[in-house]
Amino acid sequence: MATIAVMGAGIGGISQVYELKKELGKDHDIVLVGDSDRFEFTPSNPWVAVGTRTEDQIVIDLPDLMKKYGIRFDGQGVKRLHPDHKTLEMNDGTVIAYDYLVIATGPKLAFEEVEGLGPHGGYTKSICKTGHAADSYFEFEKLVANPGPVVVGAAPFASCFGPAYEYALILDTELKKRKVRDKVPMYFVTPEPYIGHLGLDGVGDTKSLLESELRDRHIKWVTNAKITNVEEGKIHFTEVDEDGNDKKQHEQEFVHAMILPAFKGVDAVAGIEGLTNPRDFILIDDYQRNPKYQNIYSVGVCVAIPPVSATPVATGAPKTGYMIESMVTATTHNIAAAIEGKEPSTQATWNAVCLADFGDGGVAFVALPQIPPRNTNWASKGKWVHVAKIAYEKYFLHKVRAAKTEPYYEKMVLKMAGAVRLKESI
Ligand SMILES: Cc1cc2nc3c(=O)[nH]c(=O)nc-3n(C[C@H](O)[C@H](O)[C@H](O)COP(=O)(O)OP(=O)(O)OC[C@H]3O[C@@H](n4cnc5c(N)ncnc54)[C@H](O)[C@@H]3O)c2cc1C
Repeated sequence: MATIAVMGAGIGGISQVYELKKELGKDHDIVLVGDSDRFEFTPSNPWVAVGTRTEDQIVIDLPDLMKKYGIRFDGQGVKRLHPDHKTLEMNDGTVIAYDYLVIATGPKLAFEEVEGLGPHGGYTKSICKTGHAADSYFEFEKLVANPGPVVVGAAPFASCFGPAYEYALILDTELKKRKVRDKVPMYFVTPEPYIGHLGLDGVGDTKSLLESELRDRHIKWVTNAKITNVEEGKIHFTEVDEDGNDKKQHEQEFVHAMILPAFKGVDAVAGIEGLTNPRDFILIDDYQRNPKYQNIYSVGVCVAIPPVSATPVATGAPKTGYMIESMVTATTHNIAAAIEGKEPSTQATWNAVCLADFGDGGVAFVALPQIPPRNTNWASKGKWVHVAKIAYEKYFLHKVRAAKTEPYYEKMVLKMAGAVRLKESI
């Protein structure tokens, strides 16, 4: 009997344990290792931040659920991975031994890279964690009561721009509903070289689609922006030219700001020679497997992927839900093969498929493959995206509660989008 530990109980980790359980059955021991007792459905965080969802609606308690499906669970959090000993040292001092490990720890939110950034002692809010979004909702209500300027955007080295656009546009929609939008000047500040780049060098016509959306909603933007520091009520950033030289210094006053931080790998794996890259993302081969520690696999945001294109201010490539699910399926097949003594042979496609909600509509895109030129390079705007995003939330939460394993996007969204079917990944 092999023990397979999955580190991180987010979108990647939860999908991974269910797939492994289905593939390996009762013959092997599967353990899910989180850093709390809960699963958070991160894509709904922008709704929590404006009060259209409560924290309880998108969080699922894990201990009893995992017990029900015969999966061991430990929510103490990994303090340090010891790959040479095949052990996880937990925050409570206990040790979990494994034969195979899947690292699915998502990002470390590197607020500390910009002075004054972030919800822990800084002056900007975040929607990256559900708790951050719930905390930001209090500030949203204060904004409605005392309207003033708003800044939304991302710091250098951010790699997930969709949620910043979503938050800006959802906020615009909600402020209109509250009849105070006319008293709220809004600014979008991003390291992307152009609006709609998304860390993917654009998908289909996301440049025009998102520019026109921001224009229509009177949201002014600055691209190639390097946020340098934040003080109470004021954000400082440098706009650079296409060669990365300083072009203009900006300062913008705000009463509410939500800035996505740089992403890094988590502390529990930081600096492990051969396992991580300089920003502590997990190095993997074509089979989601670490080249040095061949019993370690990785899926999701914590995986090292090179940027799609070099940009004047550093940006990273996003890892979206469908891409993560394709990594999970490949990993399941490869671990099952390794247990049988075979070489892994399954590769994920890493296609980028995403729904960005605006509260009253949205943009969907499909980038296949991620790096241009692409076989499918499609984006579309419409009210149906808002409906599809709600369906995605309901479906994924149901899938977690019911231990289902089908990827949502392939089953539903691509059909609704009328997009060309994705090349089979596995
Ligand atoms: C606000 C937001 C909205 C998004 N919306 C979408 C969307 O609509 N569609 C889409 O396709 N993608 C979206 N994404 C991108 C991506 O799908 C999500 O970020 C997704 O949650 C990533 O899954 P993951 O499993 O890699 O990481 P996570 O979901 O972040 O899960 C990682 C888990 O590991 C835990 N962990 C970290 N360190 C340790 C440790 N030492 N020990 C144990 N556990 C640990 C974390 O607490 C977390 O629970 C969004 C991202 C954000 C931030």
